[in-house]
Amino acid sequence: MKIIPIFLPYAGCKHRCVFCDQFGATGEAKRPSPEEIKNKITNYLKTSKEYEVAFYGGTFTGLPKEVQKIYLKTVSEWFGKGVKLIRVSTRPDEIDEEMADFLKLHGVKIVEIGAQSMFDDVLEASKRGHTSEDVKNAIKILKGRGFTVGVHLMIGLPESSREKDLRSAEILSELGVDIARIHPTLVFKGAELYKMMKKGEYKPLNIEEAIDRSSEMTIILEERGVRVVRLGLYIPEDQRENIAAGPYHPSFGDIVRSRIVRKLVENLSIKRIEVDKNHESWVYGHGNREIFRKVGVKILKGDKLLFDELDYEKTLRVYRSRS
Ligand code: SF4
Repeated sequence: MKIIPIFLPYAGCKHRCVFCDQFGATGEAKRPSPEEIKNKITNYLKTSKEYEVAFYGGTFTGLPKEVQKIYLKTVSEWFGKGVKLIRVSTRPDEIDEEMADFLKLHGVKIVEIGAQSMFDDVLEASKRGHTSEDVKNAIKILKGRGFTVGVHLMIGLPESSREKDLRSAEILSELGVDIARIHPTLVFKGAELYKMMKKGEYKPLNIEEAIDRSSEMTIILEERGVRVVRLGLYIPEDQRENIAAGPYHPSFGDIVRSRIVRKLVENLSIKRIEVDKNHESWVYGHGNREIFRKVGVKILKGDKLLFDELDYEKTLRVYRSRS
């Protein structure tokens, strides 16, 4: 299902995490009014019949309830007229039983939580202001009420390591989350992390380590049934000058998928690959040419294939996870 994104920069955030610069990353400084949201939905519905509306970019449940209600009611007017469901992003410490019930009552079906890491020293050094226990509690509350639960994970945060990032993916998959996004930590000029880096208190990951670490985390998550729906931040072209350092690449997700295909082929004696035309680059791209010599590749028409039904012995079907 296609998504209508509604971006609410810093909405409901009570303090600032060291890596965060939403203005620098998106160029969006203003929250849309209900009228602007209505216009956006009307325009999107001209091009497709079914949509999900997603509130991104802040701490939705940190907003006063009256404000949340205005946003949710604005969207729920379209239920039955093209909008199928609502998704919100928030922080784990802004979810409790009462808030989960409130979201459910107002038509929210998917809640994405900024977990970032499951190690408290990493969360503290990043000034997240919550603990890994808060993440566990929020997931438990939401899963218990039947929400689809997503998590955002970051790699290369201050005090983190390869082992901690991989273990965070493992812990979250064991907690039964449904969806994950993995973002390498970037240093934006407007973020506190920039000052930390200049003082020598933070060193960003290099691109090779970011790709490899993300590929390992994706394998961990997808093996356990978690859909990884985004790898790397989308930064509009005119905002990229705001990135001071860090492992940014506009095709980061594609490169990670290629790395995963290569690892699976090399480690699991894959004999044949089936890939849909839209994702050929996952097989052929980014230094993967040599795998042609070892395996047969069948390109399929259409966009149906996803990354499941792995017959590890003979066939790896390369397909795309969907949210
Ligand atoms: S990372 Fe999320 S919680 Fe932290 S300041 Fe940015 S939007 Fe708010």
